[in-house]
Amino acid sequence: MPLKVLILGANGFIGSALTEAIMARTDWQVFGMDIADNKLGEVLNEPRFKFVEGDITINREWVEYNIRKCDVIVPLVAIANPSQYVKDPLRVFELDFEANLTIVRLCAKYKKRLIFPSTSEVYGMCPDPVLDEQTSNLVYGPIHKQRWIYANSKQLLDRVMFAYGVRDGLDYTLFRPFNWIGPRLDDIHEAKEGSSRVFTQFLANVFHGLPIRLVDGGRQRRSFTYIDDAIECLLRIIENKDGCASRQIFNIGNPHSDVSVAELAKAIVEGFRSIPEYAHLADTAKIETVAADVYYGQYYQDIQVRVPAINAVREKLGWVPTTDFNTAIRKTLQYHVRRGDFMPSEKG
Ligand code: UDP
Repeated sequence: MPLKVLILGANGFIGSALTEAIMARTDWQVFGMDIADNKLGEVLNEPRFKFVEGDITINREWVEYNIRKCDVIVPLVAIANPSQYVKDPLRVFELDFEANLTIVRLCAKYKKRLIFPSTSEVYGMCPDPVLDEQTSNLVYGPIHKQRWIYANSKQLLDRVMFAYGVRDGLDYTLFRPFNWIGPRLDDIHEAKEGSSRVFTQFLANVFHGLPIRLVDGGRQRRSFTYIDDAIECLLRIIENKDGCASRQIFNIGNPHSDVSVAELAKAIVEGFRSIPEYAHLADTAKIETVAADVYYGQYYQDIQVRVPAINAVREKLGWVPTTDFNTAIRKTLQYHVRRGDFMPSEKG
């Protein structure tokens, strides 16, 4: 019998890319729910993909029924954008923590394999130069820095799943995305500041002729990871050959793409320059600096370095990232060229 995979949040950045890859490369069936379907496109026509448009917090019976029916549960419904952590922390808690705790409990009840997105943000301001799943401490700021509600929510869920694993043998894998980037991360047509994570925000600003704004000068660093590499890793986790991913925690990131936000801005402008259809946008692109409290408000606190240790994924799954940072930028821009986004119309 082919594997049955339940993906909650199938229309998200990770969910849509994962569903496409499963359809293209496996014989698995996917059951999906999301509040929208705009990122799914052609894959909606696949007979092995059963999609229902709806809210997981309302369609509780459908969710429970499908958890019982499926072999592997991948709950991806969450808010994962720092500007939302400071603007609407309680909604982050209700969705990312409370709604997902219900799913975790159902997986424990029905003894289902659970593949859950933790986050690179759980490490918070840990001073380790390389963040290790087994040895790094999880370090957060004071309570009034509301940014940390997301990391705290995810951390507590990590601990809940770990405890279910120890006590009841829950078969889980926790994965921690390190700034995954690529097409459909956020809406490129939405230019409003704070609507996207930094990669899409910078692309959108160049497309819309707005200045790229470096928070506090852009010295903070991230390890940007191309979505196709990350999805390859997730497929190996779902496949779980000989139980290699069971009750494991995996950083999924590219330590070789550790760059500052200022370097990201420059590389994005150069990416535009290297593509004939978009080269004119590079000439007019501007980069400026903005203070963090002006950009995000008083409840924000930044993270300065975030480099993943990837020994665990390499050893257990044989996975290493293969797409370098500049290729990731170019591939994303080529995706927008193919779709005709922001191209001058032929009629002029
Ligand atoms: N950032 C920035 N300009 C923007 C948006 C974000 O300089 O227009 C910075 C932000 O302060 C953070 C980094 O980019 O240090 C990454 O932000 P992102 O939203 O991708 O999320 P994070 O990696 O912090 O979870």
